[in-house]
Amino acid sequence: MTMAEKSQKKSQAKSQGKTKQLMAASDFHAKKKWGQNFLLEPKFVEKIIDAADLDKEQIVLEIGPGLGALTRQLAEQAKKVVAVEIDGELVTLLQDILAPYDNVTVHHGDAMKVDLEQLVQSEAAEDGSPVYFSVVANLPYYITTPIVMRLLEQNWHWQKMVLMVQKEVAERMVAPPGGKDYGALSLGVQYRAKASIVTIVPPTVFYPRPQVDSAVVLLENRLEPPVAVDNEKIFFGVIKAAFAQRRKTLLNALGNSGIAEDKEQVQQVLEDCGISCQRRGETLSLEEFAAIANGFTSFA
Ligand code: SAM
Repeated sequence: MTMAEKSQKKSQAKSQGKTKQLMAASDFHAKKKWGQNFLLEPKFVEKIIDAADLDKEQIVLEIGPGLGALTRQLAEQAKKVVAVEIDGELVTLLQDILAPYDNVTVHHGDAMKVDLEQLVQSEAAEDGSPVYFSVVANLPYYITTPIVMRLLEQNWHWQKMVLMVQKEVAERMVAPPGGKDYGALSLGVQYRAKASIVTIVPPTVFYPRPQVDSAVVLLENRLEPPVAVDNEKIFFGVIKAAFAQRRKTLLNALGNSGIAEDKEQVQQVLEDCGISCQRRGETLSLEEFAAIANGFTSFA
């Protein structure tokens, strides 16, 4: 083993020891129900931080700071970190862990319920005009898709997201039409952002270890979506309804979804767009979904 490898191993052991030491010293046990798989390996913390490409002007929203593995690095690199953690026990521990940093606020709450835009703006906006922020998180896997969809659906001021997610969720985010991975998440992500997979992450770098591989994804907000959508609420409603039951044809999926008044209306919108009622959501492009959503918007 070279000197460099030895020193890397030593620093890994130190950091791994720290999380486990912290947990033992505070009698803290990871809670499965909240998807608590803590990141141990500095190399992957670094990859996330590098992808976020922060500087001292930037504001970061972190969802699920846990024991602060990412939070500490974010606090070093960014102007301000606003973190939301559901577990009160961790919020208490974080007060000590993050005591050296005066640019971090930990909010005790559920990221699915808190108005994240308002939280960031109230913590970080200085002159009343909204600030742009980056979202950086090792997300709890049990709610990855709803949290990401929530951030995509709202036209909030996020610029970039760097997220650790399950590998299969990352694959869904970047999937092209036609395959089994393509769905509402792919469309929502690709409508709002340029998406790429930064790296694949093995289970061994977490404690406790998850059952699956993970991946770090980078979503860069396009600010101008690639297709014209008249009403985003209707667009997101259509893509979710089209994939709620994948095997259904568009006519049945949209006809029973509350998007349309009845199946005749669905038929009319699809005919106007030149799209067969018998097609399934997985065969449609982003442009076709935008056209369908705009068709329904004209009835709204
Ligand atoms: N960031 C830490 C790390 O990388 O080691 C912890 C990541 S762990 C995968 C997910 C974190 O999200 C946990 O701290 C968990 O308590 C928190 N969490 C779970 N559900 C949440 C929710 N609905 N809102 C906010 N935080 C949540």
